[in-house]
Amino acid sequence: MKQHYKYERYDADTKKKVLDLRSQGLKYKEICTALLVGDDFVQRTCQDNGLGGTLAQAVQDQIRSYKAQGHTMAETAEHFGISRPTAQKYCKGIASQCHTEKWRVTVAEKTRQHFAESRDERGIAFVEKYAPNFEYVSGYTGKDATLTVKCRTCGVDQLLSCNVLRHCKVSCKVCKQIERDRLNAEREADRKRKNEEAHMKRIEREAERERKAAERWHECPVCGERTNRKKYCSDKCATQAANANHEAARRLKIEQNLIDKNITLSSLYKKDGGVCYICGGKCRYDDYIIRDGLKITGDWYPSIDHVVPLSKGGAHAWTNVRLAHRRCNYLKSDNAPLS
Ligand SMILES: [Zn+2]
Ligand SMILES: [Zn+2]
Ligand SMILES: [Zn+2]
Repeated sequence: MKQHYKYERYDADTKKKVLDLRSQGLKYKEICTALLVGDDFVQRTCQDNGLGGTLAQAVQDQIRSYKAQGHTMAETAEHFGISRPTAQKYCKGIASQCHTEKWRVTVAEKTRQHFAESRDERGIAFVEKYAPNFEYVSGYTGKDATLTVKCRTCGVDQLLSCNVLRHCKVSCKVCKQIERDRLNAEREADRKRKNEEAHMKRIEREAERERKAAERWHECPVCGERTNRKKYCSDKCATQAANANHEAARRLKIEQNLIDKNITLSSLYKKDGGVCYICGGKCRYDDYIIRDGLKITGDWYPSIDHVVPLSKGGAHAWTNVRLAHRRCNYLKSDNAPLS
């Protein structure tokens, strides 16, 4: 009677609200909480209107189709505000058809993700410990495999062996290459600069030489031709000039009575009586042989000796000439006589 009384207490409007909520898939308890009504009333109202115990067919279909879209049981239950066992009750068959597969995939994916995350964490720790100048990127699978890291300086990714990282101090190859390239470029620039300088110096030297050569241009004193040689334009002119000089000197000597043209071997022989003034022996005109048409004089043949040699300024004059054996003359050579 008490229940009946309670049931009677609620008006038609509340009943309608209860039925509405029930048809949306809410449980008795949830409807009680939502409308602040007794659960006996809710249960009775629902049962009286065909919504007791099980959910409406339409709602059931909705749940089934929602589940069939691939949602998990928990998701489905939450979506329709029902408990998981209730959801399972309505979704019998569907779970085994579609969800098992999805669940498997999800679990595999989650496991993979979990391991990947933990691997990455270990990788980050590993790189921090062994290669602080690098940043972990990916690929750490263990201490004996490889991993991808990023250089903190140049930011280039590189694949490195964990073993190498553990046992050696590894520096970035890219950075090294960059440094090498920089040095090479510097050296190259230096070399170019030096070459340039050397080239400029060479050009300067060339110009200097040409300038000097131009300054050197003058007329040859012999033939009057323009030349940049030292004095004469050619060897021929030089010889000609030397001969002229020699001749001029000879003429000068003649003019100064330093050369007496009358001095001959026979006249001197006659004057000195055929006696060598060096050894006092007699000179012999017959001391010669003829070979191949040439007269080759011997040691005792007479010769004209200059007491003061011509090379030392002696004159070719009667005062400075004496008869001497060819040999004695030769032995005396250019020496002044022993007085
Ligand atoms: Zn680097
Ligand atoms: Zn000349
Ligand atoms: Zn002699």
